[in-house]
Amino acid sequence: MNQKENILIIGAGLCGSLLALRLGQRGYQVKLVEKRPDLRKVEQDAGRSINLAFSDRGVRALQMVGLENEVKKLCLPMLGRMIHDNQGNTFMSPYSGKNEKYINSISRPGLNMLLLDAAEKLPNVQLIFNQSCESVDLKNTMATFTDYHTKEKTTHTANYIFGTDGAGSVIRNNVFNNKLIRLSFSIDWLTHSYKELTIPALENGGFKADSKALHIWPRGENMLIALPNLDGSFTVTLFLSHETGADSFQKLDSPEKVLEYFEREYPDAKALMPNLVEEFFENPTGPLGTVKCYPWSIFNKTLLLGDAAHAIVPFYGQGMNASFEDVVVLDKYIEKYEGDWKTIFSEFQKERKIDADAIADLAIDNFYEMKEHTANPLFQEKRKLEIAFEENYPERYNSKYSLVTFNDNIPYSVAMRRGRAQDKAILNLLDDNKLISEMNLEEKLELVLNETKNILHDDNVAKNL
Ligand SMILES: Cc1cc2nc3c(=O)[nH]c(=O)nc-3n(C[C@H](O)[C@H](O)[C@H](O)COP(=O)(O)OP(=O)(O)OC[C@H]3O[C@@H](n4cnc5c(N)ncnc54)[C@H](O)[C@@H]3O)c2cc1C
Repeated sequence: MNQKENILIIGAGLCGSLLALRLGQRGYQVKLVEKRPDLRKVEQDAGRSINLAFSDRGVRALQMVGLENEVKKLCLPMLGRMIHDNQGNTFMSPYSGKNEKYINSISRPGLNMLLLDAAEKLPNVQLIFNQSCESVDLKNTMATFTDYHTKEKTTHTANYIFGTDGAGSVIRNNVFNNKLIRLSFSIDWLTHSYKELTIPALENGGFKADSKALHIWPRGENMLIALPNLDGSFTVTLFLSHETGADSFQKLDSPEKVLEYFEREYPDAKALMPNLVEEFFENPTGPLGTVKCYPWSIFNKTLLLGDAAHAIVPFYGQGMNASFEDVVVLDKYIEKYEGDWKTIFSEFQKERKIDADAIADLAIDNFYEMKEHTANPLFQEKRKLEIAFEENYPERYNSKYSLVTFNDNIPYSVAMRRGRAQDKAILNLLDDNKLISEMNLEEKLELVLNETKNILHDDNVAKNL
């Protein structure tokens, strides 16, 4: 075992910072290089997902590095979705029927700072900011960076390189463009883009809406969501078609049109956003897409992780959680094969790719669920039944959402297979009027579990042809 290998991590976002901390804790010599300024000293641009949904898979990663108590101070628990119709009526749809199951709203910069502070305390971790990676020589594990201020070029060499430079990864693009290996690579853009807005806090610092919920205004094609912040404000995100359809970012090109659109679709939210028009035109409009690529291990010396390997659309609130889980899974293999990086990288990508693909697909499913189905009576009936199953038979039933969000011991791919089969089973049974009111809850559960078993069996038969 060689504890002294030099590791270069490119990109000090959420994944890179956690990875630097973990590898530092394991005794490696770590250099973490980031193209932006140190976010603990310089305020970053507004409009880039200021808060995030942080759930069990992410929590487990923070436990791994011993920050579970510190991170709690940054968290605001959200117990369910607060659905807003366009008459201003609301109802709460809990995330789970089980006690103490919730997700958290967390500040992206707050969490990133916590990780950077912890990593920086380690004598064997060096943080470097304002250096943008321009190119990589992956055969010789060397990367060249340009300093933001001086424009000087610097080269860093290491025994191993980790590419955690996000969805637009320079390292991944380098491999792909230079055809260094046969890298499969795709980006699927969503028809929708996003823009962040704000519901400010009350003058006394209180919240203008329920702070224990993730608020959703589902409108079929488009939607608005809002997550609470510790200062009493909410970060609001509009997911709107970019250019097609009756309403789109392209069409909202004047203050009058923006106000008319919000008055028509989200009147109760509009009433809480005094700076709507200014923010709408000042804040950037971001694209949304799914990035897939493979392999993630290049020449057994460089590994892509986090969004650089698998960026997903944000509708399951799992992109960061999945990126954190990458580090947990990698750590498991480092523990098992310490020093044998070839095996570590190969086992890691073998296990993880299938799960990254699953959460990417689930996130697309949830796009439709959130903007359309949450307002659909059949869907609401299904959720009601699932909540009752979870409440009364916590050991026997987990909804798809619970399998993905609250069961970090179940891989995403398994959660997807089982969750989809359950959804299909309940929706079919409801639609066929087979879950009748004369049945008690246990009988309904038996029927759903049986139907799910049959669907899973059929899926397996088809898979094994
Ligand atoms: C609108 C939106 C909402 C989201 N909401 C959620 C949510 O609720 N829950 C959730 O789990 N996930 C969410 N996500 C996903 C989440 O943001 C990402 O999955 C997560 O940030 C991935 O972390 P990362 O470290 O891999 O990438 P990033 O956070 O993108 O970090 C990459 C880092 O690399 C740096 N970098 C880039 N290029 C270079 C270079 N050439 N040289 C050096 N450094 C470089 C960047 O500056 C950045 O600091 C959301 C995403 C979006 C867009």
